[in-house]
Amino acid sequence: MRLSRYFLPTLKETPSEAQIVSHRLMLRAGMIRQHAAGIYNWLPLGYRVLRKVEQIVREEQDAAGAQEVLMPTIQSADLWRESGRYDDYGKEMLRITDRHGRDMLYGPTHEEVVTDIFRNNVRSYKNLPANLYQIHWKFRDEVRPRFGVMRGREFLMKDNYSFDLSKEDARKSYNRMFVAYLRTFARMGLKAIPMQADTGPIGGDLSHEFIVLAETGESGVYVDNALLQKPIPENVDYDGDLQPIVDEWTSLFAATDEKYDPEKDEKPAGDVVNARGIEVGHIFYFGTKYSKPMGAVVTGPDGDEVVVHMGSYGIGVSRLLGAIIEASHDDAGIIWPESVAPYTVGLINLKAGDAACTKTCDDLYAALNAAGVEVLYDDRDERAGAKFADMDLIGVPWQVIVGPKGVAAGIAEIKNRKTGERSELPLDAVVSRFA
Ligand code: ATP
Ligand code: MG
Ligand code: MG
Ligand code: MG
Repeated sequence: MRLSRYFLPTLKETPSEAQIVSHRLMLRAGMIRQHAAGIYNWLPLGYRVLRKVEQIVREEQDAAGAQEVLMPTIQSADLWRESGRYDDYGKEMLRITDRHGRDMLYGPTHEEVVTDIFRNNVRSYKNLPANLYQIHWKFRDEVRPRFGVMRGREFLMKDNYSFDLSKEDARKSYNRMFVAYLRTFARMGLKAIPMQADTGPIGGDLSHEFIVLAETGESGVYVDNALLQKPIPENVDYDGDLQPIVDEWTSLFAATDEKYDPEKDEKPAGDVVNARGIEVGHIFYFGTKYSKPMGAVVTGPDGDEVVVHMGSYGIGVSRLLGAIIEASHDDAGIIWPESVAPYTVGLINLKAGDAACTKTCDDLYAALNAAGVEVLYDDRDERAGAKFADMDLIGVPWQVIVGPKGVAAGIAEIKNRKTGERSELPLDAVVSRFA
């Protein structure tokens, strides 16, 4: 992409409405623009990163055996009356009436819809386990939408739902998601720690929130420092027994302050610190809470009807962009981990008015594109200082800087955005360096 043609309205000034750094940087880097409180337009740069994050989530869900579907955003209130949640859900639910006077709603979550799909289409235990996911927009009329995409009213969530014959089987589905989540967040360069979370009336130990530590986070947590050093499981066999991995991660203390109260509860063992964090994911086993009232049953191996056991699993896909920036930025701007970076290389032409320099940059741009390298090319006729500032702000991991002197000498300067390290490379070695 040529910057001269890119729809990228960057801002020099810090927007006064933004209280935290990720919100400020997303506005300044031209990623998002607010449409109404907690509702955002995603501009080309922001949308590009959103899709990269989404793709990592998708790949890890697929690897863990979940299947992607797409459910409607607008739901019928009748299903929620069946589950008993229509009146309970309260003001966070955006309620809509259609022209025939039917009660509809913009889905804040999809347990009812997916349970309806299941009960209408699955009859036998032989079709279990089942796990359906979607990556789609939710609406929650939050009391205090704030911090940009961190707490929006409309936001992108990956949500999935598992169906099993028994609690033991449901635990296996839960474990698959537990491990898939560890891997998903790590691929984005995040340390998201699974923490025991409140299970409410369901009870039990099968609820974990995945939390990224950050001072600006809205969740209070107690966490054993040793968890921050734990290596992420690799080469996972999702058909195998994942309980040892889950046990290993849950043997060290980590809980949200809704679950653990230092005044009342016993002091946990380990080097436990009180910190703040961002909830980026949440997994939850809730048994027959929806399947029972809604009649989601299958015929079991001995011919009896069995009410299925369910779990639900959410990832805040749009919130993750905020979390990644909170975890990875400096005074100059965003520092994208390569896995989610909008472009791998930012090519800077230091002198757009110089014919030889521009020719070299144009050729380099074409060659990088041809080699499949994602490159953002600053071909604008601007001061070098402004170009450096914009490229640092956008946070592309590698900058390739080409000026008239370099062209004469046959070299480009390479800068690593994260470390600031600079090196020189022969012009004809640039493409192979990144391809
Ligand atoms: P929170 O405690 O932050 O309100 P939640 O517990 O209500 O979140 P869940 O119902 O567990 O949210 O939804 C799954 C995931 O969706 C959350 O872990 C979070 O990452 C994301 N999420 C929830 N609410 C929002 C929001 N208003 N804006 C952006 N992401 C959100
Ligand atoms: Mg909430
Ligand atoms: Mg929560
Ligand atoms: Mg939650």
